[in-house]
Amino acid sequence: MIEIPARRGKAIRLAAGQSVKVINTFGQQVVDTWAFAAADIREFMSMEHTRIHIGRIIPRIGDPLLTNRRRPILTLAEDTSGGIHDTLVAACDRWRYELLGCVGYHDNCTDNLAAGLAELGLTPPETPSPLNLFMNIPVTDGNAIGVLPPVSTPGSFVTLRAEMDCVVAFSACPQDMVPINGAAMTPTAAHFEVFD
Ligand SMILES: [Zn+2]
Repeated sequence: MIEIPARRGKAIRLAAGQSVKVINTFGQQVVDTWAFAAADIREFMSMEHTRIHIGRIIPRIGDPLLTNRRRPILTLAEDTSGGIHDTLVAACDRWRYELLGCVGYHDNCTDNLAAGLAELGLTPPETPSPLNLFMNIPVTDGNAIGVLPPVSTPGSFVTLRAEMDCVVAFSACPQDMVPINGAAMTPTAAHFEVFD
């Protein structure tokens, strides 16, 4: 099992057919997730392209996750977390925290993506809108969004199966100014493991 340290990012390579189990170790941690095609990282998992293909805003077990070239890159194969994830909200970045009133640098998922890929010698072509695992952004009144703690429980997990050789990146979201990582607003580590 590999740790995604609290407030940090981590990236791995997956071969087609391999799976990664993303574990919400302490139950309340959002994990921003990206996938890039190994052959050309300008092709990456795209929430915009996925939503129209699956016909909903939260993928379910069995749903393919499409790239910006509309090819399946991952499949959501297992989910014990309660099925609440987010595909609507951009990764947090320094500007998000500045808008929330943070003075000075704040850890953020955008920089964590870059740091995770840098460990593999890669530079993200942009910060794609992530699959925000365990993030609870309900659509209310048909046209508003909420910001709520996760419904996931300690040890619950999501399994993603690679449909092509790819690089998958995770960020244990460092958001501690709104309760997206639980009412305690204390980001924690999460873990993952890869299996064939
Ligand atoms: Zn974040």
